[in-house]
Amino acid sequence: MQLYTKILIGMGVGVVLGIFLGPASFILPASGVQRSATARVVATPGGEEEVVLARGMDEAKIIEVQEGAQVWLQIEWTLQARALLKLQKEGEKAAGTARAGQKVQGWVVESFPEVRRYSPLGESLVNLVEWIGRLFLALIKMVVVPLVFCSLVVGVASLGDFRKLGRLGGRTILYFTVTTVLALVIGMGLANVVKPGHMMSEEDRTVLLASYSGAAEDTVKDAAEAPSVVDQIISIVPENPLAALAKGEMLQIIFFAVMLGIALTLMPSRRSQLVVDLLDRLNDAMVMLVHVVMKLAPYGVAALLFKVVGTTGTSVLLALGAYGAVVLAGLAIHLTVVYGLVVRLGARLPFGGFMRALRPAQLLGFSTSSSSATLPVTKECCEENLSVSREVSSFVLPLGATVNMDGTALYQGVAALFIAQIYGMDLGVGEQVTIVVSATLASVGAAGVPGAGMVTLAMVLTQIGVPTEGLALILGLDRLLDMFRSSLNITGDATATVFMARLEGEALTILSPEKDAMDPEHGFEHRLDGGEHPVKPEEDSSC
Ligand code: ASP
Repeated sequence: MQLYTKILIGMGVGVVLGIFLGPASFILPASGVQRSATARVVATPGGEEEVVLARGMDEAKIIEVQEGAQVWLQIEWTLQARALLKLQKEGEKAAGTARAGQKVQGWVVESFPEVRRYSPLGESLVNLVEWIGRLFLALIKMVVVPLVFCSLVVGVASLGDFRKLGRLGGRTILYFTVTTVLALVIGMGLANVVKPGHMMSEEDRTVLLASYSGAAEDTVKDAAEAPSVVDQIISIVPENPLAALAKGEMLQIIFFAVMLGIALTLMPSRRSQLVVDLLDRLNDAMVMLVHVVMKLAPYGVAALLFKVVGTTGTSVLLALGAYGAVVLAGLAIHLTVVYGLVVRLGARLPFGGFMRALRPAQLLGFSTSSSSATLPVTKECCEENLSVSREVSSFVLPLGATVNMDGTALYQGVAALFIAQIYGMDLGVGEQVTIVVSATLASVGAAGVPGAGMVTLAMVLTQIGVPTEGLALILGLDRLLDMFRSSLNITGDATATVFMARLEGEALTILSPEKDAMDPEHGFEHRLDGGEHPVKPEEDSSC
């Protein structure tokens, strides 16, 4: 069975497990509740007296349900030492006699999403297998820094001259900017026509805003800590390249690797060859490591999706359906129209074959919501399945995974308009242009990790004077949309790579599934069956 099919099965298993056996499952007993800070816990049903000791508690067990005009839930939770200490510090009388570990009871009104029922059994099941997903992610991330560094130095060194690098760099950055702006135009065009923000009822809006305001504040705080544009540019130069490698600062690593590659090309080749060869071999080893780790991919994605699907409730998702649908439609249009044209006309490849060649990377991007973590696999897809040279892919892909996020930009454009519409603000042309500029920069600034686009969206909202509390509205849906936009981000990087390769005069071919299955040296199938020839013979002769 092909690796792609196995990953797909893994994803299916994860989704089904999430729906039926996750914390939000509708078949397991929902005997637990999660409450947000805004939900009041009172001593008796309908009573006024608040249970002070409920502060700091967010999960509890349901012990009784009282139906009436309103459904009341009697809940029980264990007093945590930390919460107790905080209450004592605040001088709460009730905390004086209480002790940590004590069971406390109270009543809450069942109202989604302030109080949300969940299944503790489902949660235990998710926790039981979560480590597989985390292990898989950790393993694949382990390869990112050495792979990017080695392949970029070797790639730049083998480009040979400055002019080629300057040409490739200039074209790539221009291409990234144009496609990002196009993504924003598509997303915002749709949001202006559909106006998803006008579709939510006043009630839903108030409930959502109240229940998530704490989380939105955290996101805004994260965004406020982001440095200015000038600082960001200067910080690309690493004062200590080893520290940059150790911390995984991707732009700094790219900058240093490019500079080192340039320095190597300026040296006589008899002196530089040893370093280039060493890094080249190290790069081969990293590639092999990617294939070893990918053996775990089907299980990893199953565990990752089990958790995401299992913990995401659906009611909030329904309320935000129109907004989500606009984002998804925008992503689909960008994929088929913009990428479709670039791949067909620019790279002169059949779009279907291109998409098939990218499947492992897209599925991984979808399951991990991280274009950075997927980078090693995207690179393998471009080099092995689409025959892009290592020089081009080593330059375009790491840069793309860091700064080129069309999916993120598109989502930010829609989200900014959606939130503005909810607040009843009519944005004029000037403000919409500001969104295009700031979302382009915000998508550049967003790291390729889950939820990064949400953080930089706060900057976009601030630019146009839309209340950042509005982020609260879209938090519930963000995890799900992140999967789709990450997948598009990855496809965008690969599209840029094949286009740039073609502009550099490379003849691209798509590796057929049959050839992939037959040849253990190419593609994703049977790569670990290479036996005693892990190094290609023609490369042997170079040392
Ligand atoms: N998760 C996205 C990515 O890795 C970034 C985002 O949050 O939009 O590409």
